[in-house]
Amino acid sequence: MTADLLEDLNEPQRRAVAHAGTPLLVVAGAGSGKTRVLTRRIAYLLGQRNVSPGEILAITFTNKAAGEMKERVADMVGPRARVMWVSTFHSACVRILRTEAHRLGLKSNFTIYDTQDSVRLMTLIAKDHNIDIKTYSAKYLLSSVSNLKNELIDHETAVSRANTPQEEIVAEVYGEYQRRLMRASAVDFDDIIGHTVALLQAFPDVAEYYHRKFRHVLVDEYQDTNHAQYMLVRQLVGDGSDGVEPAELCVVGDSDQSIYAFRGANIRNIVEFERDYKNATTVVLEQNYRSTQNILSSANAVIEKNVNRPKKRLWTAEGEGAKVTIYTAADEHHEADYIVRTIDELIDNNEYAFKDFAIIYRTNNQSRSIEEVFIRKGIPYKVVGGTRFYERKEIRDALAYLRAVANPADDVSVRRILNVPRRGIGDKAEEAVEMFARRERITFSEALNRVPEIHALATRSATALTEFNTMINHLRTMDDSGAGPSEILMKAMETSGYLKELTASRDPQDEVRVENIAELENVTREFEEQFPAENEDERAATLSDFLERVSLVADSDEIPTDDAHGGVVTLMTLHTAKGLEFPVVFVTGMEDGVFPHQRALGSATELEEERRLAYVGMTRAMQRLYLTRASARSTWGQPNYNPESRFLAEIPEDFVERLGEEAKPLGLSGGGFDRPRKRDVQVMVLNVGDRVLHDKFGMGTVVSTAGHNDSAEATIDFKSAGQKRLLLRYAPVEKL
Ligand code: ATP
Ligand code: MG
Repeated sequence: MTADLLEDLNEPQRRAVAHAGTPLLVVAGAGSGKTRVLTRRIAYLLGQRNVSPGEILAITFTNKAAGEMKERVADMVGPRARVMWVSTFHSACVRILRTEAHRLGLKSNFTIYDTQDSVRLMTLIAKDHNIDIKTYSAKYLLSSVSNLKNELIDHETAVSRANTPQEEIVAEVYGEYQRRLMRASAVDFDDIIGHTVALLQAFPDVAEYYHRKFRHVLVDEYQDTNHAQYMLVRQLVGDGSDGVEPAELCVVGDSDQSIYAFRGANIRNIVEFERDYKNATTVVLEQNYRSTQNILSSANAVIEKNVNRPKKRLWTAEGEGAKVTIYTAADEHHEADYIVRTIDELIDNNEYAFKDFAIIYRTNNQSRSIEEVFIRKGIPYKVVGGTRFYERKEIRDALAYLRAVANPADDVSVRRILNVPRRGIGDKAEEAVEMFARRERITFSEALNRVPEIHALATRSATALTEFNTMINHLRTMDDSGAGPSEILMKAMETSGYLKELTASRDPQDEVRVENIAELENVTREFEEQFPAENEDERAATLSDFLERVSLVADSDEIPTDDAHGGVVTLMTLHTAKGLEFPVVFVTGMEDGVFPHQRALGSATELEEERRLAYVGMTRAMQRLYLTRASARSTWGQPNYNPESRFLAEIPEDFVERLGEEAKPLGLSGGGFDRPRKRDVQVMVLNVGDRVLHDKFGMGTVVSTAGHNDSAEATIDFKSAGQKRLLLRYAPVEKL
């Protein structure tokens, strides 16, 4: 067994897997097997060191990675791997907080606010505090509060440290924000970590319990931990002062892949590991098993331009491989065409299947032009764009219903759906309930139970409020009675009239909304099938379980795993791509101003972070790497002529092959470009019978046209959306 677990590892990997006792740091460049070491180490602990699965806490960067790691360990040691805690920081902390919530004055069914919930709450607070939203947007306030939380600075400390009017305002809303979260028995994403740290610090018996439980703590992607997460790890490992030996700690990471500085990630955590943990051992891995020499050399050449980084010697035995292709397209559509042509060729040669390809870009909106060509050419793909589905209004409304049912104290959710669909409850009525709740020091939901006592209400409003309350209470009764999330969802959508309003509407958008609600119902059903009650002692998954799962869906959870018919091409941002690998990778938009991002151009530190992103992107590739750029790229309907990304020039020509050519821009004059005027490029000429693609309405056929230039218009028949008359100057249509 020992031989098995160590056999297909190199010497330093073996040392890391078998290391016992003192804290262990594994640092190494991309693709050197850090994650493999972590997984193998867990198997080794279980198989060789008699550690029981319940004693292991392993932290990964995404839920998807956690699932995979568990699978792999289960393959090696069998199903008892299932009870291990392998999860993200957030999931692990939610689990701890649910058990210990009462200690912090939270209900165990506390709600987790996502960013949009938080923005809503912050907007309310800014309004109540007469803060000028133009100077201090809710988003600005929130990110300031978030930065403080990442540093574990509480609002009292923030107040005492505030020096500028700006800091004073942030500290003030921070306090109010926390009070309102508490009142709603809710937490935001940062609180999940911060509260857990506070819990472990304030309650030695809780800390001791977890010290005894987790004898092994393992963390992947350690370079992206922020201060709060760093402290969390310290607290969980313990220092022995409670009589429990500190847990064995093993962290793996690569400071060259630190790409979350904007969330407070701190390379310091990895660089100073040996100072933070006494007797720490460091293992360095130097063989890359993922990429060919050309890919690795190119990536190394780029990252070496960062100053003050420890030199690394990363080598590969995978052979030279194909040269890295740098392709210059005339514009983003040609860039997309090139990608599709290349995918087609590689598949025709039977070398690859769709699932082997990844398209990676700097910002989400870059996916659109690629998606359009994929749709047109029938390339199956999936955008891992995150939470797009869950960001839709109808999905958020439906989830607000479910949250209002699961947690009556969740004022934000209750108020979101109070008059959705319209049921005659105006702002005034809502305000009257809110005033009453404040005066009585009760939640909004509790106030709704006492509508007859609220004298400020007009009779009609009172009736509407009572009906709403009866409906929600009925749903709560269903929840209490053990109805599953799917049943509650459908009942909510029906009795509230939400679905009826959508189905009655003639707006084609609403048709899509109905489909999305249906899709959400699928999600609830799949969830129920995944977690059935298997025997009498067990309970089936509840509404709260479902909501918790939904609020923790990380971006990368959507990466397709369906292998049928060769799977699908994956589209995602550079940030989402971290830790993954694909045989063929396209990194697109290699233009100064796109990647590196416009924002970073003026700052040396930010350029270094962009360079790390480039390193992450390039090292995802196993056999073939394409770096593509568009010499003209439209933003807001205007073509931008960006110079090629400076990262491209950093790659020695020996490793690359350059293809494609520079666009010849219109109106070239003298030494520089004259930007074509909007009218010249913007208004297309359409003829009757032309097929077009519209952003929102999809495919359509031109029925008639009128006008010229700026006033050119066309009547277009979009099948499901019907006929639309569009002013071509503004309409986001593309001629096919
Ligand atoms: P990243 O920095 O991108 O997270 P990593 O260091 O975590 O990369 P892994 O993903 O663990 O690297 O490994 C990269 C690839 O190399 C994987 O396909 C892995 O299975 C393979 N690999 C790692 N070590 C070995 C080995 N000793 N023998 C064969 N293959 C290996
Ligand atoms: Mg890894």
